[in-house]
Amino acid sequence: MSLEGLYQEIILDHYKSPRNQGKLENPDISISESNPLCGDEICVQAHLDGKTLKDIRFEGKGCSISLASASMMTEALKGRDGAHAQKYIDGIKAMMHGEGKLTDDELGDMEALKGVSDFPARVKCALLPWTTLEKAMNEKKLEQKK
Ligand code: ZN
Repeated sequence: MSLEGLYQEIILDHYKSPRNQGKLENPDISISESNPLCGDEICVQAHLDGKTLKDIRFEGKGCSISLASASMMTEALKGRDGAHAQKYIDGIKAMMHGEGKLTDDELGDMEALKGVSDFPARVKCALLPWTTLEKAMNEKKLEQKK
């Protein structure tokens, strides 16, 4: 299998079997954003414990890239604090511009999104869940260290 084929597999796996999909009861964070260019819509919800994303879920409709990216994001950030989440948000943004801020180990499945940087029209799809969460985190000042 080619490397591209493998990446495609990982993205399709998250698209078909999304992790942490659904709604939370009484979420501390609930934010919806859309990407009109592609028609992607995403809602990110989280329960907070201090500055930690104790639980994080998403719901959405859209293309495989945006939904797979959301699934990967919740998997990577569940149980992590705001500073850690911000590091990943910055890292994924950089990756979409062809820069490597996060190591392959840190990226895990998200490495599969690397190829998206070659398709500028799809970069917004991949970033939608991340920029949506970032907006909510900024409002709650979660990204700041204690
Ligand atoms: Zn899309």
